[in-house]
Amino acid sequence: MDLRPDESLVAFREEVRRAIAEDLPADMEARQRAFGGIQSEIGDTLAWTRIMARRGWTVPQWPVEHGGLGWSPMQLFVFQEEQDAAYAPTMSWAGSHMVGPVIYTFGSDEQKARFLPAIRNGEYIWAQGFSEPGNGSDLANLRTQAVLDGDKYIVNGQKIWTSTAYASEWGFFLVRTDPTVKPQRGISFLLIDMKSPGITVRQIPMINDDCELCEVFLDNVEVPAENLVGEPGAGWTYAKFLLDHERTTSSFIFFNKREVQRAKDIAVAEGLARDPVIQARIARLEAEVTALEWSVLRTLAGEDYRYDDTAVASVLKVTGSRLQHAITELQTDLLGAKATRLFAVEADRRDPAPLWPEHVPGRVGAALGQRAATIFGGTLQVQKNIIAKLAFGL
Ligand SMILES: Cc1cc2nc3c(=O)[nH]c(=O)nc-3n(C[C@H](O)[C@H](O)[C@H](O)COP(=O)(O)OP(=O)(O)OC[C@H]3O[C@@H](n4cnc5c(N)ncnc54)[C@H](O)[C@@H]3O)c2cc1C
Repeated sequence: MDLRPDESLVAFREEVRRAIAEDLPADMEARQRAFGGIQSEIGDTLAWTRIMARRGWTVPQWPVEHGGLGWSPMQLFVFQEEQDAAYAPTMSWAGSHMVGPVIYTFGSDEQKARFLPAIRNGEYIWAQGFSEPGNGSDLANLRTQAVLDGDKYIVNGQKIWTSTAYASEWGFFLVRTDPTVKPQRGISFLLIDMKSPGITVRQIPMINDDCELCEVFLDNVEVPAENLVGEPGAGWTYAKFLLDHERTTSSFIFFNKREVQRAKDIAVAEGLARDPVIQARIARLEAEVTALEWSVLRTLAGEDYRYDDTAVASVLKVTGSRLQHAITELQTDLLGAKATRLFAVEADRRDPAPLWPEHVPGRVGAALGQRAATIFGGTLQVQKNIIAKLAFGL
């Protein structure tokens, strides 16, 4: 297989690089560079999404009939790589990569007309209300109930680890609409206005001093029945479709590439670039990142590329998340005693602490934050189970 990019892709990369350089405000770039995690400040996420919306580049991978540009997976790859390399903020992900494809694939015409343009234009943030206390990996047994009452559902229950729920205008929730059937068959996919009476959101303080994760309590929340996506009881199928999209992009190859380079820069700044032990660690990580990149490219180039029923996405996630741990850990090791200073994430983003050398703030926060990479989107152990089953038939 020839994996060299074709000419059109080279020209495309140039176009994208130029456009990002033109559009990216310097203060946004500085905040993203200083923090350097996989997520951005919500204000920057929304602002950057709206800037990109002017070019139609918020959902370029969507089919044209739903407002996208029909970009190929390779074009999307190049675009995302250029954004990360330029330290552009991450765009609003839950809308463009998660609920959007579910709505245009399974939703009603009214839902498509109402939500797809808003996602494309970056009007607001979405929350993903799947996990519950005790039901994260074991989603099939989720307990949040939605009972149909005339033309509305009455929803009661609790969600947890809901990213950015405190700032989200809408949420897509998995709820139990039929407790009498096999667990997977009784789950439905409901779009809920986060300002609805009966919803309480509580932020959870995190180890890296961030607090983007939330608990969401639903107490007799009334949701119009028209907000149900697709068929009642088919929510499990839609959730699998959505999570498979999420996992395929979870190698975080662009983050890993950029952060290996940053580790090299830190080694130079700390006078450790000639240390053979450090050189060996960097070389090994760089080789692994390159291997991961080629695996992603091979997957994207393969004619049988698809989101379902393969262990490939899980393999990419296992490797990509392990590398996130290793690379950010190396960065903090390189800082030595300076790594004992935890800078507040928000402070890092606003003001890269001028009293410290610029390569120091943000590194410990990123290393602690990236621990989560082997948990979100399906834990390491669950991914390994999937690989065992699908790849080895165990
Ligand atoms: C940063 C972050 C952001 C997140 N954002 C969201 C969000 O926006 N929306 C949302 O719904 N959820 C979100 N989550 C939740 C995430 O999806 C869950 O944490 C994850 O699915 C694991 O579920 P759990 O926490 O209940 O752990 P558990 O499922 O209780 O797992 C605990 C431990 O047991 C292991 N384990 C569980 N089952 C098995 C098994 N069958 N075989 C082997 N080992 C097993 C796990 O690997 C883990 O080590 C987020 C999590 C994090 C960390």
